[in-house]
Amino acid sequence: MFDKILIANRGEIALRVIRAAREMGIQSVAVHSTADADAMHVRMADESVCIGPPSGTDSYLSIPAIISACEITGAQAIHPGYGFLSENANFVQIVEDHDITFIGPTAEHIRIMGDKITAKDTMKKLGVPCVPGSDGGVPDLETARTVAEDIGYPVIIKATAGGGGRGMKLAKTADDLAEAFQTARAEGKSAFGNDEVYIEKYLGTPRHIEIQVFGDGKGNAVHLGERDCSLQRRHQKVFEEAPGPAIDPETRAKIGKVCADAVADINYIGAGTIEFLYENGEFYFIEMNTRLQVEHPVTEAIFGVDLVREQIRVAEGLPMSFTQDDLVLNGHAIEVRINAEKLPNFSPCPGTVTAYHAPGGLGVRMDSALYDGYRIPPYYDSLIGKLIVHGRDRPEALARLQRALGELIVDGIDTTVPLFHALLAEEAVQTGDYNIHWLEKWLETNLE
Ligand code: ADP
Repeated sequence: MFDKILIANRGEIALRVIRAAREMGIQSVAVHSTADADAMHVRMADESVCIGPPSGTDSYLSIPAIISACEITGAQAIHPGYGFLSENANFVQIVEDHDITFIGPTAEHIRIMGDKITAKDTMKKLGVPCVPGSDGGVPDLETARTVAEDIGYPVIIKATAGGGGRGMKLAKTADDLAEAFQTARAEGKSAFGNDEVYIEKYLGTPRHIEIQVFGDGKGNAVHLGERDCSLQRRHQKVFEEAPGPAIDPETRAKIGKVCADAVADINYIGAGTIEFLYENGEFYFIEMNTRLQVEHPVTEAIFGVDLVREQIRVAEGLPMSFTQDDLVLNGHAIEVRINAEKLPNFSPCPGTVTAYHAPGGLGVRMDSALYDGYRIPPYYDSLIGKLIVHGRDRPEALARLQRALGELIVDGIDTTVPLFHALLAEEAVQTGDYNIHWLEKWLETNLE
């Protein structure tokens, strides 16, 4: 059993992990950059270590600094949160070489899923439905043309190493192909150091549906249903809900079992998310995230489980504390991501929070590292809080979200809160009738 764990992250997710650890009687070590000396995760942890200057590259991404912090404090395990080093197989390898436990999957699983071509190939073999496309990498434009003709336009060219919506280009017709192919390759090369690309059929009006899976590393795995994260801006999720308004219990059970069986088959350990596009009743695998997701709280709300606690348990070699049959879905949950950004352009808006009041009451959870007087540093992601509401059904969750948004006070900076007030007034949001393009189109006419 662990006595002490280190959290290699910052912001709300660092707090999230510290909270789970504390409830389990485990001491927590925060790491921070010089810009984060006053951050809430530093205040809340049992111990803290400064690991470098403001830039993420020199602090939260510095593997030697994080390993040293572990050794100095005697932390036995590292929780990576999301982002930063959470999906860095090399980091996991180094952690394990130092006899420290990584709270997450193995380096091998991270490597497999981090390369989109290998991930797709693996999932296909495990019986998971995939988007029709090229068989592996596409080496040159000639081959790209043949493949694209075969699948039929429009197609999407994706960098195998891509992520965060980068390294992806749409070719509507054969005329766009050369440019899309070259741009995707160039972006893959410059952003991820890998210019290998593959081609997929471009789906016109899909929803983004992702399945939460959890494995014990010993061949047992469960699924915790889906999250619908179709409301996206520039491929970034802004509003997530569970269960998905378009998914019925039979569909959930069926795709959930396919996913749980797939990860059980590879002895996957910890939390994972299998992402799909969902169109006309069919699921198409796009990628697997081998970490805790930003939007995990909506799943926690409807299943009444603590996913971070489970991550820590299985990392300790303990069994999961639930079986598939124990997981009974209850009600509806919605999360909105609140960013320090100025509308209508979503430009980052760091600065001093002169007043902060978190909403509360029945079914409301605010995961945030804000406090009165906190100076949001300009060096990191603009996410400053996640507001999660849980109701008996979707209409109750929506009403609760509106009520809770009304209670939230974040003064001194601009935030994306007005976006959510506006979205809640929309019929498509009220009825759950949207796809992955809906928000972009809405923004064009309503905000931008
Ligand atoms: P990333 O790793 O960059 O997040 P993903 O493969 O997860 O990339 O795709 C991100 C988003 O891009 C999806 O949620 C969806 O909006 C869009 N997308 C990806 N693949 C396709 C496709 N084949 N057809 C249509 N849209 C797609």
